[in-house]
Amino acid sequence: MSDLKVDLTAPNGRKITLPIGIYINNEFVKGNGGEIESINPTDESVIAKVSAASADDVDAAVKAARQAFNDPSWRDLPGPDRGAIMFKWADLLEANRETLATLETWDNGKPYSVSYNEDLAEVISCLRYYAGWADKIHGQTIPTTPGMKFAYTLKQPIGVCGQIIPWNYPLAMAAWKLGPALACGNTVVLKPAEQTPLSILFAAQFISEAGFPPGVINIINGYGKEAGHALVSHLDVDKIAFTGSTATGKAIMKTASVNMKNITLETGGKSPLIVFEDCDLDQAAKWSQIGIMSNQGQICTATSRVLVQESILDKFVEKFQEAIKTTSKVGDPFADDTFQGPQVTRAQYERVLSYIEAGKSEGGKLLTGGEPHKNVGEGKGFFIEPTVFTDVTEEMKVYQEEIFGPFCVVVSFKTEEDAIRMANNTTYGLGSAIFTQNLERAHRVAEKIEAGMVWINSSQDSDIRVPFGGVKQSGIGRELGEAGLAAYSQTKAVHVNLGLKL
Ligand code: NAD
Repeated sequence: MSDLKVDLTAPNGRKITLPIGIYINNEFVKGNGGEIESINPTDESVIAKVSAASADDVDAAVKAARQAFNDPSWRDLPGPDRGAIMFKWADLLEANRETLATLETWDNGKPYSVSYNEDLAEVISCLRYYAGWADKIHGQTIPTTPGMKFAYTLKQPIGVCGQIIPWNYPLAMAAWKLGPALACGNTVVLKPAEQTPLSILFAAQFISEAGFPPGVINIINGYGKEAGHALVSHLDVDKIAFTGSTATGKAIMKTASVNMKNITLETGGKSPLIVFEDCDLDQAAKWSQIGIMSNQGQICTATSRVLVQESILDKFVEKFQEAIKTTSKVGDPFADDTFQGPQVTRAQYERVLSYIEAGKSEGGKLLTGGEPHKNVGEGKGFFIEPTVFTDVTEEMKVYQEEIFGPFCVVVSFKTEEDAIRMANNTTYGLGSAIFTQNLERAHRVAEKIEAGMVWINSSQDSDIRVPFGGVKQSGIGRELGEAGLAAYSQTKAVHVNLGLKL
């Protein structure tokens, strides 16, 4: 390690010089909160040690963001110019797409094909999508008393935004939050997850080259309890946007009340996938595999409860097992044919294994999987077999709690009413999927499901133009699309008296 950089050779042979400081005011500096060891979940080796931010470092980052917000250089920049800088950053990330995808796969464990083809594609297009919005954010004119009075609204940025993101989609979650915040003219202090600190450091190198003024984007790797807490409790932070667990989301809500911060939360899920007897069964089985096994099951919207109409249960189970057997190839995340890599950390691996034990001890029947996967990583690494339980009842932990792994339960129902009641029998309300060929039923059920998103004859669709978020304990507010802008701007009403004399 020298000059806050380290030279690395990735498992795919790519040579990478990685900055390892925290990024404040367009410079990498050493953090004072110790180090974060980034671990390769495939073989448990240490990839790199990077700086962690202390509470004082968080304060310095917030001061930089405040200065950049008050200094008219960012918020008062004409929208097209703000957009042009964001487009330039997206171009620079695109030019470094292989390296960024390599870093994501290396410390997260997700297949390289997913990092490159899906995550990086989304990062680049999300930044471009919001860059395009930067010159289209404006208010309205309202004729209150025609001829005498009118009012107009101004869309103004919120201020300094703290953004706290998880490890399951490191760069994509950063882009979902940075895009709308920057387009609206806010400045940002972003705290990545301590499990996946690498790719965002590489991306940060291009912030000043793209033309962002110092202090507009600050990136502070750090631990949740220290750096995360310091950001949420900071009196000069105006907004917190968070994605992660429901427990941490609730703690953040409490702490953020210190100065009544604006908050948006995207938290956990236990999303149902309902298979009606009138569906295309082959498609339902294939989408059920995608819905829970993609990204190692580490997706907040993962369809982890599969509810199947009793009359087709046996046939469905057979086809679902077959879809898992043929598609869910567990292996080295850098191998071309791998569908499922390791879980992100030992903690997550052990957490999933503990739910497998809970499923067994509560009386569930293991249909497939249920063990660490031992054929890769030479005995090391956090690999788990794709796991499905049947004979599960609604009171069981495995039916109710978010597991965040390649693990789902299959439960039967009799009628449409049962299916809706069972789907809604959860504290969560993020995603949901319905398989039926009956058009009326599809829309009737979609309307009644308590969830922020519904997929009809599909699972896990997400598009930067479409609002994303949850109801109940799955979160507050929406990201992506035009709705995502609402989370980063506030409306000021200006009343004008043109001619009413007293
Ligand atoms: P977490 O919610 O604790 O961490 C998410 C982010 O919050 C990280 O950046 C972390 O540093 C930060 N954080 C933690 N405590 C904080 C605090 N007190 N104040 C401010 N920031 C804080 O999640 P985890 O421990 O990494 O994972 C545990 C479980 O959370 C998973 O098993 C899964 O069920 C869920 N999870 C959900 C998502 C999602 O996308 N909704 C993502 C990751 C994890």
